[in-house]
Amino acid sequence: MRNISQKKRIVIKLGTSTLAHKTGKLNIRRMTNLVRVISDLHNSGKEIIMVSSGAVGLGAGKLGLPEKPKETKLKQAVAAIGQCELMHVYDDMFAKYSVTVGQILLTKTIINNESHCQNFKNTIESLVGMDVIPIVNENDTIAIDELELEIGENDSLSALVAELSGADLLLILSDIDGLYDDDPRTNPDAKPIHVVKEVTPEIESVAGGAGTSLGTGGMSTKINAAKIATEAGIDMVIMNGKDPELLYDLFEDKEIGTIFLAKK
Ligand code: GLU
Repeated sequence: MRNISQKKRIVIKLGTSTLAHKTGKLNIRRMTNLVRVISDLHNSGKEIIMVSSGAVGLGAGKLGLPEKPKETKLKQAVAAIGQCELMHVYDDMFAKYSVTVGQILLTKTIINNESHCQNFKNTIESLVGMDVIPIVNENDTIAIDELELEIGENDSLSALVAELSGADLLLILSDIDGLYDDDPRTNPDAKPIHVVKEVTPEIESVAGGAGTSLGTGGMSTKINAAKIATEAGIDMVIMNGKDPELLYDLFEDKEIGTIFLAKK
């Protein structure tokens, strides 16, 4: 029995594939609908914290680059441009519903430093207390480096944010409907898995294991996020972000996406 309707503090993670077209330009229809539904959930009393990707993707799109740059210093520069664009868009879109947003940029170093991490928690509490939606991303202009000091992907970042902010639910919006027992792109008979009680080696192998990606959009990083969240006592849901109206169904406890149940 799902109890998503009871969840109060929710971290919602949006990936680049949800918020931008393949060109790197903003998916205006999707974003407009998402911001409307998220504002409505916020107005209903949910405490929403967002983790949004898109810095590098939107930066590349804004500069008209054919693809994301591979060289670190260029990627960092592009992220600086895209992050600015991203927050401008959020600020503008949420303003339509009189919802205020605030930006928080994290690095692994901040998360691993006790006092810096406490500052993060304090800021989250203050923002949520002021009815503001914090929007978190990795500080890509600083954190992308060859020394692997960065978290590197926002699925894990969103799980860490959920843990540090004491969330009840981590909701990952992606370009897939959830977890399947086989690759739905190559096997039309693949069946959705609606509930995962434990992230077992079987579940990990279904998801493609580390480094490969059976599920589109990198299912393995989502499984990693599920491990972090469920260990921290937080339920996690993966669902498709293409139809934001489905969020209403999710919060009415309908069977949407895959839920990974918290361990404690
Ligand atoms: N932080 C990256 C960005 O905003 C995204 C990382 C990811 O795609 O998971 O571009």
